[in-house]
Amino acid sequence: MLADRFGRTATDLRLSLTDRCDLRCAYCMPAEGLPWLPKAELLTDDEIVRLVGIGVSLLGIRDVRLTGGEPLIRPGLPAIVARLAALAPRPRLSLTTNAVGLERLAGPLAAAGLDRVNVSLDTLDPDVFRTLTRRDRHARVLAGIEAAHQAGLRPVKINTVLMRGINDHEAPALLRWCLDRGYELRFIEQMPLDAQHGWDRDAMVTAEEILAALRTRFTLVPEGDQVRGSAPAETWLVDGGPGAPGGGRVGVIASVTRPFCGACDRTRITADGQVRTCLFAREESDLRTLLRSGAPDEAVAAAWQVAMLGKKAAAGIGEPGFVQPQRPMSAIGG
Ligand code: SAM
Ligand code: SF4
Repeated sequence: MLADRFGRTATDLRLSLTDRCDLRCAYCMPAEGLPWLPKAELLTDDEIVRLVGIGVSLLGIRDVRLTGGEPLIRPGLPAIVARLAALAPRPRLSLTTNAVGLERLAGPLAAAGLDRVNVSLDTLDPDVFRTLTRRDRHARVLAGIEAAHQAGLRPVKINTVLMRGINDHEAPALLRWCLDRGYELRFIEQMPLDAQHGWDRDAMVTAEEILAALRTRFTLVPEGDQVRGSAPAETWLVDGGPGAPGGGRVGVIASVTRPFCGACDRTRITADGQVRTCLFAREESDLRTLLRSGAPDEAVAAAWQVAMLGKKAAAGIGEPGFVQPQRPMSAIGG
């Protein structure tokens, strides 16, 4: 098991496949991009499959979320997914993506064994999309989301980050759009993980503001903590819930104003094979060197377990002494 010193056990692995991306979301990356990791430092397909195999067979990992950077730009992604789906015990496999390349890949990924996708969509307006992501790809993203739904990667979950003065007026419209299509929307509070260190606590759109905006158009009833479990999103039933006409569910991931660290069940591996115990960890443990040194699976598993013992009780965003991690979100794997 991947236990830490605070009684938590990690069963959910966030695995980054690349630090590169074909968008430049303002809350994530600078317009000019970042110095990307050299290819030789990235885990190979074989190393990825071996590490996840160690996770599921020796360490109790049950869920694997592929992320990045943009995971769809990793060459050979369907083949990687097929190999992960063939592991025993088979993990649940999901993907967090900007969906730019999903129209083409949704079918092959579903056929390879992918179970679900989380798609980032911050706006319904192509002009706002261009401002926010610095790329003109809105139509492709919408087509990618539809393709995922058609390919059976359901429920499609949509992740939205609101930025004040850019897309914060769109919360109710985004929810209506998702409810009408059977997608599950989750708003994520903007976190201090951008490479350019531009995060400002006072400018951040809070969960409370998001809920107030939604309540102008919808009736929201909290689902309660037992449903939240270790999932970071607090959820609300909208207009009578999923069974009611026009109703559904919405989530808010309030990482800053209502952190959920006490129930965290995550472990992370970066595209270059470093274990991170938290998005906000300041330390990393190198598994890639161990993998490449010919160490047996048990030694790799033991190193991963030791790394998890360094997991802090809480991320402490906004507390005195908080320091943003060196790596930005795109290089950690969001
Ligand atoms: N490129 C993929 C995508 O955008 O879905 C996967 C990686 S991205 C880093 C994962 C998630 O992190 C996205 O939903 C994105 O909106 C979110 N994200 C990025 N930077 C963030 C920030 N500073 N605060 C909150 N969420 C952020
Ligand atoms: Fe790329 Fe995702 Fe970061 Fe946007 S949030 S720049 S899509 S990695």
